[in-house]
Amino acid sequence: MALIVQKYGGTSVGSVERIQNVARRIAKFKAQGDDVVVVVSAMSGETNRLVALADAVSGNNPNPREMDVVLATGEQVTIGLLAMALNSIGVPAKSYTGWQVSVKTNSAHTKARIDTIDDTAIHKDLKEGKVVIVAGFQGIDAEGNITTLGRGGSDTSAVALAAALKADECQIYTDVDGVYTTDPRVVPEARRLDKITFEEMLELASLGSKVLQIRSVEFAGKYRVRLRVLSSLEEDGGGGTLITFEEDEQMERVVVSGIAFDKNQARINVRGVPDKPGIAYQILGAVADANIEVDMIIQNVGAEGTTDFSFTVPRVDYKNALEILNQVKEHIGATEVSGDDTVVKVSIVGLGMRSHVGVASTMFRTLAEEGINIQMISTSEIKVSVLIAEKYTELATRVLHSAFGLDKV
Ligand code: ASP
Ligand code: MG
Repeated sequence: MALIVQKYGGTSVGSVERIQNVARRIAKFKAQGDDVVVVVSAMSGETNRLVALADAVSGNNPNPREMDVVLATGEQVTIGLLAMALNSIGVPAKSYTGWQVSVKTNSAHTKARIDTIDDTAIHKDLKEGKVVIVAGFQGIDAEGNITTLGRGGSDTSAVALAAALKADECQIYTDVDGVYTTDPRVVPEARRLDKITFEEMLELASLGSKVLQIRSVEFAGKYRVRLRVLSSLEEDGGGGTLITFEEDEQMERVVVSGIAFDKNQARINVRGVPDKPGIAYQILGAVADANIEVDMIIQNVGAEGTTDFSFTVPRVDYKNALEILNQVKEHIGATEVSGDDTVVKVSIVGLGMRSHVGVASTMFRTLAEEGINIQMISTSEIKVSVLIAEKYTELATRVLHSAFGLDKV
């Protein structure tokens, strides 16, 4: 007998039939003697519909507090429906909104962070044999305002609940059957990974693999929650992927575990910058002041008193960043500001890189053999990222996938 937190995403509760399916799956765990706490998302498409309504009535400028009032309704529907579906097959169940639990968050509307979770009511219900169903994606701040956790936030609700309840496992049921070596829509040879370490998952999530909200992975790492991604559409969950902790790993490490690509990138170059203290701050400080997130950054070693800067920003911020830098350019005496928003960041990720040399050079050789030009490179302990022209996304991902032996046999 175990205490399990299960999270079902929007597709998994997207119709009456699917909700009934989820109820039957929960009933099976209950019948085995497990205690089950369930977190659900809104029905698929519902949150988008609510966002569109809010945008329409507010001229695309919804008040953040009221936005959360609207957004939180999606999950309130699915918790109630799932509780009814369970009741109708003889399983006692009780639903809770985020504030009923309560899930306390800060006041950052539409992107709030969870501070504490009160588990008193949940434990009482579990003791009485009930399945407890909690609305994902939502909480309440210290002033009693409804908050939401950002798109995909139900993953984080589930992991946070699992941490608070000290659950034996947190199972994320979704419309894919696990974490893949890369996006199977781009590389048909991609394989499902039985296991991946938390560190690798964190990199893949931050690099644009959309299986889990990145905050949920961070949470799982911090509180050491045993996390598993499974399919809600297959009988046994499709095998799934277990996210493990490195210390627990006995298996032989592969060098590269996965390949991610992120098209939400634009490159900016500032050339002919006087090479003196404070310049990086003047360039990147101006960008940061406009709340634009900078990703890859390169500054060259100066020559003849000047140097060059390159960095990447999210594509939506590209035009704005160019404008800001054209102003800064006059101020600091740079010669040119230019950029390109048709680029993609392709990354290889693997813990094995720590102990294997030549991983980066294999990557560069593989791309060179296809005539793909590398514009920027960045590395960390367990990843190498390159910025290349967007039109090479599929080709680069495919050749790297096979160069690192990830293709299924
Ligand atoms: N319903 C919210 C969304 O669509 C939260 C979630 O599904 O995790 O982003
Ligand atoms: Mg999701």
